[in-house]
Amino acid sequence: MGCTTGCRGISAPAPGAPPPPSSSLTLGSAEFFFLSHILTPLSGCNCSRSILEPADIGSKWLQANDLQKEVYQHLAYYVPKIYCRGPNPAPQREDLLAQHVLLGPMEWYLCGEDPAFGFPKLEQANKPSHLCGRVFKVGEPTYSCRDCAVDPTCVLCMECFLGSIHREHRYRMTTSGGGGFCDCGDTEAWKEGPYCQKHELNTSETAEEEDPLVHLPEDMVVRAYNIFAITFKYAVDILTWEKENELPGLEMIEKSDTYYCMLFNDEVHTYEQVIYTLQKAVNCTQKEAIGFATTVDRDGRRSVRYGDFQYCDQAKSVIVRNTSRQTKPLKVQVMHSSIVAHQSFGLKLLTWLGSVIGYSDGLRRILCQVGLQEGPDGENSSLVDKLMLYDSKLWKGARNVYHQLFMSSLLMDLKYKKLFAIRFARNYRQLQRDYMEDDHERAVSVAALSVQLFTVPTLARMLITEENLMTTIIKTFMDHLRHRDIQGRFQFERYTALQAFKFRRVQSLIVDLKYVLISKPTEWSDDLRHKFLEGFDAFLELLKCMQGMDPITRQVGQHIEMEPEWEAAFTLQMKLTLVISMMQDWCALDEKVLIEAYKKCLTVLMQCHSGFTDGEQPIVLSMCGHSVETIRYCVSQEKVSIHLPVSRLLAGLHVLLSKTEVAYKFPELLPLSELSPPMLIEHPLRCLVLCAQVHAGMWRRNGFSLVNQIYYYHNVKCRREMFDKDIVMLQTGVSMMDPNHFLMIMLSRFELYQIFSTPDYGKRFSTENTNKDVVQQNNTLIEEMLYLIIMIVGERFSPGIGQVNATDEIKREIIHQLSIRPMAHSELVKALPEDENRETGMESVIEEVACFKKPGLTGRGLYELKPECARNFNLYFYHFSRAEQSKAEEAQRKLKRQNREDTALPPPALPPFCPLFASLVNILQSDVMLCIMGTILQWAVEHNGYAWSESMLQRVLHLLGMALQEEKQHLENLSEENVVTFTFTQKISRPGEAPNNSPSILAMLETLQNAPHLEVHKDMIRWILKTFNTIKKLRESSSTSPVAETEGNIMEESSRDKDKAERKRKAEIARLRREKIMAQMSEMQRHFINENKELFQQTLEELDTSTSGVHENSPVISDAKLTALGPEQTRVAEHRQVVMCILCQEEQEVKVDSRAMVLAAFIQRSTVLSKNRNKTTPDPEKYDPLFMHPDLSCGTHTGSCGHIMHAHCWQRYFDAVQAKEQRRQQRLRVHTSYDVENGEFLCPLCECLSNTVIPLLPPPRVLFNRSVCFLNVLNKCNSGNSEKMDQLQLPEGFRPDFKPKNPYSESIKEMLTTFGTATYKVGLKVHPNEEDPRVPIMCWGSCAYTIQTIERILADEDKPLFGHLPCRQDDCLTSLTRFAAAHWTVSSLPAVQAHFCTLLASLVPNEKNGNLPCILDIDMFHLLVSLVLSFPAIHCQDFSGVSLGTGDLHLFHLVTMAHIIQILLTSSTEENGMDQENTNSEEEVAVLTLYKFLCQCTGSALKEISSGWHLWRNLKAGIMPFLRCSALFFHYLNGVPAPSEIQVNGTNQFEHLCSYLSLPNNLTCLFQENSEILNTLIESWCSNSEVKRYLEGKRRAISYARESNKLIDLPDDYSCLINQASNFSCPKSGGDKSRAPTLCLVCGTMLCSQSYCCQTELEGEDVGACTAHTYTCGSGVGIFLRVRECQVLFLAGKTKGCFYPPPYLDDYGETDQGLRRGNPLHLCKERFKKIQKLWQQHSITEEIGHAQEANQTLVGIDWQHL
Ligand SMILES: [Zn+2]
Ligand SMILES: [Zn+2]
Ligand SMILES: [Zn+2]
Ligand SMILES: [Zn+2]
Ligand SMILES: [Zn+2]
Ligand SMILES: [Zn+2]
Ligand SMILES: [Zn+2]
Repeated sequence: MGCTTGCRGISAPAPGAPPPPSSSLTLGSAEFFFLSHILTPLSGCNCSRSILEPADIGSKWLQANDLQKEVYQHLAYYVPKIYCRGPNPAPQREDLLAQHVLLGPMEWYLCGEDPAFGFPKLEQANKPSHLCGRVFKVGEPTYSCRDCAVDPTCVLCMECFLGSIHREHRYRMTTSGGGGFCDCGDTEAWKEGPYCQKHELNTSETAEEEDPLVHLPEDMVVRAYNIFAITFKYAVDILTWEKENELPGLEMIEKSDTYYCMLFNDEVHTYEQVIYTLQKAVNCTQKEAIGFATTVDRDGRRSVRYGDFQYCDQAKSVIVRNTSRQTKPLKVQVMHSSIVAHQSFGLKLLTWLGSVIGYSDGLRRILCQVGLQEGPDGENSSLVDKLMLYDSKLWKGARNVYHQLFMSSLLMDLKYKKLFAIRFARNYRQLQRDYMEDDHERAVSVAALSVQLFTVPTLARMLITEENLMTTIIKTFMDHLRHRDIQGRFQFERYTALQAFKFRRVQSLIVDLKYVLISKPTEWSDDLRHKFLEGFDAFLELLKCMQGMDPITRQVGQHIEMEPEWEAAFTLQMKLTLVISMMQDWCALDEKVLIEAYKKCLTVLMQCHSGFTDGEQPIVLSMCGHSVETIRYCVSQEKVSIHLPVSRLLAGLHVLLSKTEVAYKFPELLPLSELSPPMLIEHPLRCLVLCAQVHAGMWRRNGFSLVNQIYYYHNVKCRREMFDKDIVMLQTGVSMMDPNHFLMIMLSRFELYQIFSTPDYGKRFSTENTNKDVVQQNNTLIEEMLYLIIMIVGERFSPGIGQVNATDEIKREIIHQLSIRPMAHSELVKALPEDENRETGMESVIEEVACFKKPGLTGRGLYELKPECARNFNLYFYHFSRAEQSKAEEAQRKLKRQNREDTALPPPALPPFCPLFASLVNILQSDVMLCIMGTILQWAVEHNGYAWSESMLQRVLHLLGMALQEEKQHLENLSEENVVTFTFTQKISRPGEAPNNSPSILAMLETLQNAPHLEVHKDMIRWILKTFNTIKKLRESSSTSPVAETEGNIMEESSRDKDKAERKRKAEIARLRREKIMAQMSEMQRHFINENKELFQQTLEELDTSTSGVHENSPVISDAKLTALGPEQTRVAEHRQVVMCILCQEEQEVKVDSRAMVLAAFIQRSTVLSKNRNKTTPDPEKYDPLFMHPDLSCGTHTGSCGHIMHAHCWQRYFDAVQAKEQRRQQRLRVHTSYDVENGEFLCPLCECLSNTVIPLLPPPRVLFNRSVCFLNVLNKCNSGNSEKMDQLQLPEGFRPDFKPKNPYSESIKEMLTTFGTATYKVGLKVHPNEEDPRVPIMCWGSCAYTIQTIERILADEDKPLFGHLPCRQDDCLTSLTRFAAAHWTVSSLPAVQAHFCTLLASLVPNEKNGNLPCILDIDMFHLLVSLVLSFPAIHCQDFSGVSLGTGDLHLFHLVTMAHIIQILLTSSTEENGMDQENTNSEEEVAVLTLYKFLCQCTGSALKEISSGWHLWRNLKAGIMPFLRCSALFFHYLNGVPAPSEIQVNGTNQFEHLCSYLSLPNNLTCLFQENSEILNTLIESWCSNSEVKRYLEGKRRAISYARESNKLIDLPDDYSCLINQASNFSCPKSGGDKSRAPTLCLVCGTMLCSQSYCCQTELEGEDVGACTAHTYTCGSGVGIFLRVRECQVLFLAGKTKGCFYPPPYLDDYGETDQGLRRGNPLHLCKERFKKIQKLWQQHSITEEIGHAQEANQTLVGIDWQHL
């Protein structure tokens, strides 16, 4: 059975997986040299080569007389020559040599022939096991069936699970912690379907109890026995060897004294301490030290120095000295290299044995026999015993190896499993003692094997009866809890870390006990009864030590000085809870055992009571003519304890007795006569009074420890064996008492006796007591007491108390949970108690009481209570906390109002009690009860004179209701022979007797019905009176005719209804008014930001559109034809833009000469569009960003939340934030979610992360375009492009001396520089330098890149290009484009001009600019934006009269043509496969002509394509993104509204785009206009050497259209990912499993996160694998899936990160972060899309910012080490 916690596993081959056959092993020449020269052969023999052949040694051994001597000599000689030849292990070489020289001969000997033939023969003859037994690797997925597994430790490996029937059942999935194995084939582990398909096959052939040895030849048996005995003993001896300079039975051949300084693992020292110490002690680098530490942690030991003794000893003393300041020094040992060598080989041998027995079950059995054979020293001298008992002294690696061998041998052989279990049980006490002293995790201790043995039902039962295991475990447990007080109870002192650590270890014994009890016996033998009861005795001893532990006394006057220790006791109780329940389950199975256990428990309880010395004096109480003797005891003055496990166990057993047949038929046969009811109830009652007093605030000075105890007492984890059982015990006791007596005792314990026994005492009490606290306290106590009575009478949903079954109980729990609110599956599970199989039983009943509502894109699926179940609602359900009770009350009343019913919440009808408890109902009609109820009603009637509370009244009304329900049910179920003894209605009709002469309860109720101060309770009183009448009629029904009765009813009803309707109307009005006021209040209170973010965003957006959306309704534009650019550009009327500053609330118009207004913005580097994630980032200082490569490997994205401020308001705000942060950092040294030093701040309105601001500008083009002359001076040539290049021959009208005047105000100019510099700084990751000529390039680039990302998002979502952008993006793009267009005015004019020239030269080559990228290596949209935006710098000096617009158009046409050529060159058109329509349209013909020309230019290197249709189709598809981006760009630049056709999705988008962009529909026409010039251009593009290389297939190029990037595809079933991750090993530490395998969702790389081994240095800091990966994969931003945690991780930079819900949901619509619940998980595509959208929208950083603001603990996490 697979233990699911614990060690990091060893990845040895699973049993059955054969090692590589020895004959296939070929030695390389180097090894052979080593063999023949360095390994000089053993004494005497000269034939140096042959003796080293395995076959020769093997046959020599076959003839040997003393095999052991021969083998030992061989080993003594060769082992030190192979192993440990230097400071560092060389495992590969060692393994190779060991196989050849050492293991090979053994295999020869074993087989008696070449093992290459021997082993396959063995395998064939073997009848393979029907057990799977696969040992789990760390992190491997395991499966357990919730329907069929005998207990939750029964698990399957993935392969078996997929081939089993459990696949279709309710299963649970976990990741293994390593260790443990697959239980497939174990018939005891599964109620059904024990075999998977694969292992099923094996069962049919094997007879169950056949001896596997019969399949082996006899001589083989002998040989196996010999060689196993020798090698196993050798390994055990050497591993358990303690001397330093000798070897067991071996000579020290090699006297050359080389030693190792061996460092051992412990759980005390941290990685950091070890690394630091090693660097000091052995002078190694940090890297080496990390390597050592990692190995020590994994294997348990590692040599850190090699040399002579002194040299090693010196290192040892440094290490010891350096680490002894902490609790204890690191363990270091100087060891002779020969010993280390033999130990290494010893381990190798054990692994070898494990794999050899995989060939044959017979061999396995022989090995088991050898292992368990008793040695010469008698008891405990077998090899297995020796290893077990030496376990805690072995290092981790060695333990793992031999545990693995045990699992593949002893645990796989059913016969020897039993024998081993006996050895284990006999050594149990010693093993546990060793484990307590040991400091390794449990998973690497042999003690952890208990799960493999004790959970097997037959073994557990055998161990109980034959080895008395139960008693042994409990006694061992008691051994380790030695601290007791004078009464012999456990005493827990304040815990140090070490004590807590030990206590945790002790608790593992409880787990063992749980394993033993987990499967219940189906039949009992006398032996089993006897031994179980013996164990039960031991268990009672244990509980006795807990009864009354941690007693407390009420603190008066001063507050307690120190919180007393309470957690240990509660931990113990909590851990034992399940065991206590299981003990009861066992008892329930056998009547004899039950009665015996009951007697034992009672005896122990009486012993406990004799120990309680309270100095109790007897007193007599009397009320209403009854009197009772009790003791004087006040909870508020004397000691009281919350721990009463013995009483509670007795209560549990009593309920079980009540369920037996005897209880129904012959209760007199039960041992009830010995019971003293007052004794039974005393302590539970005290405990409940304590709770009441704590609620009443009487114990405030006792501090939090008490509050915590009370909380856990009621908590779902403990209540079953605490609070619940106290109620049961009261029910038990009271059922055997006169209820009047009980009530008086209870009044006395609650310290309320005086109030109710003395007439008018209450009045005096409240008038005399001016202290309001005391009055309040008393009221609470009365309320609590009434509540307790409600519970004692009303809680009958446990089988045995009431006549119900287990499903009724669970249904009731669920109904009450869902009465509070609809709940998710996991919430419900948490609220319900789990049994030992971690089941709540909920699934079986949930459908009956609730409906499931599926989740949306966020949130989770919820269960909603079915309306018809609401009538079962009990307001005083005993498991409600106070908060839950009031929530449930509110919810239920609301529901009733909605259904237009009255709002009374009467008690539900209850099931009848079982006979033993039947008398409990009489409490309700007892005299004292009636007196209490009467008194309280009286107070309510005379409401001014008394200190009473409405809650009190409410409870009394509830009690009245319960009594009436009871009577009604009695009457309804009346049978002939029964007399109704329940006459509550009569009793409440009687007025009180002298001397009170109070009115009857009924009369008082009628009075209260009209009392104005009790509006809330009117419905309930009305319900009571109505029920009263019904009962009266029922009683009379025998005499009166039913017809008359109903008539009367109707009359009554109708007048009542009228009244009710009127009241309802009034209430409704009042309610509406109240709700309105509440709404207003909350509106005012609502903080602007902390409300629902999305909602908030929306309203702001609406607000924004209403203020800034002016241009939308500008009337000037006719819809006829809109053109975005060029001389034909549609004129747009200028309009004023007035905006409001969010900081000072002042409005201002956006003008060139006014103060600047800015938008909060966030700039980030982005790889979202990247087509090449492997690109190495160039040196930022030298990198020239002028041309963007079409792989878009790294861009600069700008985003904004769209909130506007004055530049100076922002500046002031930012300065204040900066100053505050600096002060805070000095003081607290804490991080924030934003990095002020990097210019980050949060938008003051929406707290969106920002790092700069964009200035708002009026449309810039209007300013620059001076040309109003309409003379047709259009040059025939492309506005003289080529001429401009040539500085010497200036074109006409060009005035280089002209310096344009900057039109902007100082404030705007400043902001232009600010944003420009920020873009430059972030985009290039350099220090800000506003003079750098690359600043304008980065601004244009960011504009282009941002437009491209938005175009992609729109395309991916299939949204039209215009009209669907959220306002904030629309505003952002407007500002960004206008900014980028204006930025040249603050840069150096010559620099921008030079950029323009270089850019243009890439398409129109000239001599001066060599070495420009070829057209295949330019992103044309980036080029277009840069050209258009830098053009004004040239144009401003051009006075020839050419308009800016004309220039734009020419530039656009030029770039478009280049892009067309780019597309055609890289087109991967496949002619075949596509249906082509042979339309021969104009476009197709033209594009074919162009393509032919291209072929010509490239010297026919292009693929031949004859289909114009394909080409045109391809071209259109390829150019669309570019056209769409261009349309966006010119729209934002020139402000021309988009034609309505491209604001909606539709056909002919292409044509409309072309028209908007002033392009011919037939794009190739562009080439025809100036064909001569253009042909030259095309030729020059094609003749570029890179283009040629591409055409020759020597390099690659991006082709178009580029596909959008998506996150990787995830599998539907989450366990695929777990499996994938479990096969992933750390890339750096050779095959070691990664602890936190983490998947990059962007590129699919699996990383070894959160681990030292994969830390790298980044910019001078150590970072984990994830952070390092983000720098290459996402330029600092990353999205990962932590596979073991099932959690999405967002990272940004080194300091920012957050966790995000994973896109995997279980069937209940819930995520399982941390994989705690283990329900099967499936991919939710919508949620994954949402994550993908966050990524595509560049919102990851923003999301992290919001998460960190909302949850400050996230700021403290060391994200960079993930
Ligand atoms: Zn399996
Ligand atoms: Zn299987
Ligand atoms: Zn199943
Ligand atoms: Zn302002
Ligand atoms: Zn904002
Ligand atoms: Zn690693
Ligand atoms: Zn990646």
